[in-house]
Amino acid sequence: ARAAAVPPPPPPATAAAAEKVKEGKFVPPSPPRVIKDRNGGWRYTRVGFLGEGGFARVYEVQDQNGNHKAIKVVAKQSIRSKKNKTKLWAEIKLHQMLSHPHIVAFEDCFEDEENVYMVLELCEHGSMMDLLRRRKRYTEAETRYYVLQIIAACQYMHSTNVIHRDLKLGNLFLDAEMNIKVGDFGLAALIEKPGDRKKTICGTPNYIAPEVLFDTANGHSFEVDVWSVGVILYTLLIGKPPFQTKDVKAIYKRIRENRYDFPEDKAISDSAKDLISTILNPNPDKRPTLDAILTHPFFLSAPFPAQIPLTANDVAPEFR
Ligand code: ADP
Repeated sequence: ARAAAVPPPPPPATAAAAEKVKEGKFVPPSPPRVIKDRNGGWRYTRVGFLGEGGFARVYEVQDQNGNHKAIKVVAKQSIRSKKNKTKLWAEIKLHQMLSHPHIVAFEDCFEDEENVYMVLELCEHGSMMDLLRRRKRYTEAETRYYVLQIIAACQYMHSTNVIHRDLKLGNLFLDAEMNIKVGDFGLAALIEKPGDRKKTICGTPNYIAPEVLFDTANGHSFEVDVWSVGVILYTLLIGKPPFQTKDVKAIYKRIRENRYDFPEDKAISDSAKDLISTILNPNPDKRPTLDAILTHPFFLSAPFPAQIPLTANDVAPEFR
């Protein structure tokens, strides 16, 4: 009866993924029900489906000790091109280097004939995007709590010379205790020499920093993550990203013009507005440092929750 309870691999979850399947760029992996790491001797039994990304499907699994984990599966068919192989190895290499209370733990990595598997810490409460869909907006107290944890993870990444470059609600996960785990290092970059700058365009339109788009000659660096923290702050408090419009070109135009507003019907504090506009400075050299953000009045105002209750998954929590 247990075997029957495990659902068959679903069709592509998003229209974009379905398009890639058609073009032959995304081959949806269909891993066995019991995934075996032949070298390590570990066995992981699939118990659920968590989501799908650019190349991967992510499943909830149970190991022989009964511990639940997430396994990210990439079909080798999807990484036949040199570019895609390099991308996947970079993701694995960078994620494997990192170990921090607010970063999804990378526990193991192995392959079989068909797929590459990454065993990750399970984040029971999904992504911050899922929570935003249910709640519409976050309270200022919750936002302080979560953004502090995001910044702690960024400070650690930057201290190891890693830039995440794709910080957004869909890549910020919540564990069983409603604490942040930064995940998805698919676009992360390592700064190998001090002062090195990255020149390739990457990131997600809504959250992308202006210098990535418009200063390609000079390149970009750690400040792009600070920009994303500003976009995240706005999105949590207002309920949608600051530069959002229907098409990507219009989003880029708004980013270039630094054009966003604070809708009147979605009241937020003056200190929140001030912090957002300070962070969303088009000039990366004028953006505050992560340390400076934490000393802003927004972070010093009360209440600051000791923890977030599970009820916050559905209704706004109240703190005193
Ligand atoms: P991609 O890098 O291909 O975009 P992601 O790493 O973003 O893939 O994962 C795709 C989806 O799988 C996520 O949106 C999320 O719903 C789910 N997921 C990924 N990692 C975890 C995890 N550690 N715990 C729980 N769910 C996860």
